[in-house]
Amino acid sequence: MSILHELQQAANNADSPRSWRRELASAIRDPATLVRELNLPGHVADAADRAQRLFPIVVTRSFLARMRRGDPDDPLLRQVLPLDAETETVPGFGPDPVGELAAEQSPGLLHKYAGRVLVVAAPACAIHCRYCFRRHFPYDATPRGDDAVDATCAYVAADPSLHEVILSGGDPLLLSDESLLRWSERLGSIPHVRRLRVHTRLPIVLPSRVDAGLLDWLRATRALGLAPWIVVHANHPAEIADDCADALTRLVGAGVPVLNQAVLLRGVNDDESVLADLCERLVDLRVQPYYLHQLDSVAGAAHFHVDESRGRELIAALRRRLPGFAVPRYVREAAGEAHKLDLN
Ligand code: SF4
Repeated sequence: MSILHELQQAANNADSPRSWRRELASAIRDPATLVRELNLPGHVADAADRAQRLFPIVVTRSFLARMRRGDPDDPLLRQVLPLDAETETVPGFGPDPVGELAAEQSPGLLHKYAGRVLVVAAPACAIHCRYCFRRHFPYDATPRGDDAVDATCAYVAADPSLHEVILSGGDPLLLSDESLLRWSERLGSIPHVRRLRVHTRLPIVLPSRVDAGLLDWLRATRALGLAPWIVVHANHPAEIADDCADALTRLVGAGVPVLNQAVLLRGVNDDESVLADLCERLVDLRVQPYYLHQLDSVAGAAHFHVDESRGRELIAALRRRLPGFAVPRYVREAAGEAHKLDLN
């Protein structure tokens, strides 16, 4: 029986929710529960409640388990805890900081750079990162399911210069294995498409998603003539707990190149030792620290801003401590540019 056939049969036979779906259903979606679980003072929940009206709170149980109890400054908590600062208007910070709407060819299909397109393939995430550059993205206007596949494939098939499609979101690994297979089959049937890149935070925040079904899908993607690449997103070494390390090991063990992109965030990772630990932890797992992003100037995230001069100091310090392959490229995305700007 072929891999594709097995995968389709497994999807058809699924009669109980997979464990990652059960775990996702148990994610925390209100500040009061988060504050109670972490033994934080009540006023933290009041502020979070005000700020989350702009961008709701979502935190998986796995991510929560890695936070320190009783510490409002925990670097993982800071990434997900809504603060009053999010409600302030700050000059230079807006809803579409990297000009994505101008790059849209159709809702959710972005063609910014030569040779590849990015698809907002899923409208949701397992965790809401407060600094997210898509926190104001009009997900409701993007097509879903077959409509999204049809629109993307028609555009890509008509342009032979496109060799790579990036599934992004939201988080594309929130799609079912069956939906992912549909993407692979359709894109794999376009002769000039050679690579399928997946931008996902799930191996970090919901590691149970990296299960046998997902690994089968990656194998199937290769069998369809597409080279899969995975780009994960971790900002702090405490994120790489045992369950996350196991998930990354499974991905790498399946022969898929895995890269990490981090965002430079005040109070989270604007520290030489923290970044060095993160990079070492990643390379020990054979995950390449690919990018350190300057924060995108998205409305609601100004309190995470770190000056570029400080970012350059941190990269210089990493170069003194780590082998070259463990030092990420420090970059900033700019609206209308043909590539990310190198800040090193
Ligand atoms: S997982 Fe990615 S897309 Fe989702 S909220 Fe976090 S940064 Fe944004």
